[in-house]
Amino acid sequence: MNTIDATEIVEKMSNQKINYDRVLHKMIQSWEKEAVRPRILIHSCCPPCSTYTLEFLTQHADVTIFFSNSNIHPKSEYQRRVLVQEKFINDFNAATGNRVNLIIDDYKPNEFIQLMQQKELTEEPEGGQRCTACFNMRLDLAAKEAVERGYDYFGSALTISPKKNSQLINQIGMDIQKIYNTHYLPSDFKKNSGYQRSIELCKEYDVYRQCYCGCVFAAKQQGCDLKTINKEAKAYVKEHQAQTTEA
Ligand code: SF4
Ligand code: SF4
Repeated sequence: MNTIDATEIVEKMSNQKINYDRVLHKMIQSWEKEAVRPRILIHSCCPPCSTYTLEFLTQHADVTIFFSNSNIHPKSEYQRRVLVQEKFINDFNAATGNRVNLIIDDYKPNEFIQLMQQKELTEEPEGGQRCTACFNMRLDLAAKEAVERGYDYFGSALTISPKKNSQLINQIGMDIQKIYNTHYLPSDFKKNSGYQRSIELCKEYDVYRQCYCGCVFAAKQQGCDLKTINKEAKAYVKEHQAQTTEA
């Protein structure tokens, strides 16, 4: 299979704001023409963004979710999101007959904190330079993983979120693919009512929606009650890990 470098499609688009959804659809048309199903590694930080992303992409490709999120604080909340992500994928596979896999990366919260401190980004508002560095860190890890495991493309489920700058996420992905021997999958999954569908799917699959993006800095800025979050997350982890052991 000839993997597609999205740069070639993007450069042909004369408008300043690139429609990454159109880029993705052009790539899908090529796969269909060639009758291929690429293997894609999609980064996700919890299930809501992966719901519709999986429903859509699995029609055209074999997808693995890459959970690499050392930004999440506290550890109990990280563990809860892992369990919820795992449960959603199992339920999705059972309901649709797909075989989506999940890769869970190492959790290294100190590295995330040190990176933000070194770059002096701890006080940045959500959506500012700290988030740019955070997307960069996680997409870089996704690209490395894609190379190591021989995936055709790496991409991000985060472009479904109206709170995330999908132009920025796509630009970062396009830049990172130049460093590694792999290809970035551009997207804007919120288009075509994708975000709306993700809300419906969260209800259908009873998916937990977190109240903050993940890092301690944003949680504090939002005034989140981290003590309660920690308590609830610990209780969830205890209950669901016990269920996994019993099963
Ligand atoms: S952007 Fe928010 S809702 Fe989407 S996967 Fe990340 S934490 Fe979850
Ligand atoms: S607000 Fe979210 S995207 Fe921004 S730095 Fe924190 S965890 Fe990362």
